[in-house]
Amino acid sequence: MTDFYAVIGNPIEHSKSPVIHHAFAQLTHQDIQYERVIAPLDEFTETVQGLISQGFKGANVTVPFKLEAFAMANRLTERAQDAGAVNTLIFDSQGIIGDNTDGIGLVRDITKNIGVSFSGKRVLLIGAGGASEGVLHPILATQPELLIITNRTLDKALNMVKRVEARDEVLYVSVSAYAFDDLHGQQFDIVINATSAGLSDSQLPLPSSIFAPNALAYDMMYGRITPFMAFAKQHGAMVFDGLGMLIEQAAEAFLVWRGIRPPTAPVIEMFKQQAKA
Ligand code: NDP
Repeated sequence: MTDFYAVIGNPIEHSKSPVIHHAFAQLTHQDIQYERVIAPLDEFTETVQGLISQGFKGANVTVPFKLEAFAMANRLTERAQDAGAVNTLIFDSQGIIGDNTDGIGLVRDITKNIGVSFSGKRVLLIGAGGASEGVLHPILATQPELLIITNRTLDKALNMVKRVEARDEVLYVSVSAYAFDDLHGQQFDIVINATSAGLSDSQLPLPSSIFAPNALAYDMMYGRITPFMAFAKQHGAMVFDGLGMLIEQAAEAFLVWRGIRPPTAPVIEMFKQQAKA
């Protein structure tokens, strides 16, 4: 029997998730259908209820509904609680479980696909929106030497640091928030752009000296060379976009739903070939 899943967002027509999940299903011999669902901006809850009543087993959630999905779930995984947002819903007989696979998706892409370890590294996380919140704890769990968060609106970065400090947990990672202007003189092994500045082709006001020798510069955006990526390349960094993260977060959702981890390398390769064509 075919099981049904969806990705809910607004807009949604650009979403690559159906292609990714159908590729996973083919690779793992799972019988699923996965579709794009647009929810009117004020009807996210009704849209989810509609899917449940039609017998859907789960859904991914994207912009701008990740906070509403968090509020709607009646059970949350630890990583969803850490992120304060939900990108994966599981529908079962007791209701809705909310999960977040964005952070593990980023970490798996960097450590497994790109082959760069966070352990003992100096990491700069740019941005303090939903994507940055989602990856913060999974990055901390990889034990970098330090993590600095920078954001145009500094207060948001400071609040992220405060929330980390408020947790009743011993962390061996130094975590702090800096304004862009205060980054002069700092160097990082891994620089992650979790802002949406690339959408408007805006350059981030970063000092050119922030990239340590052999640094990795990672932009969570995908499908275009952002000003951040061009800047990082110009200053000697190894540059990647967020395509691998997108596919790894989807693989983690597929694992949660189907109990089987799909191989991601062939799907990443498929998208790379399509981009070249
Ligand atoms: P949010 O709207 O929640 O946050 C946007 C962030 O970008 C804020 O920190 C904002 O700063 C900053 N920003 C926006 N424009 C500029 C600018 N011109 N200069 C400096 N900073 C700017 O978005 P998300 O966190 O949800 O998403 C961020 C990016 O991550 C998006 O491009 C999204 O596509 C990508 N993403 C990729 C995923 C993947 O799987 N590859 C998964 C999730 C997200 P301020 O606080 O000052 O407004």
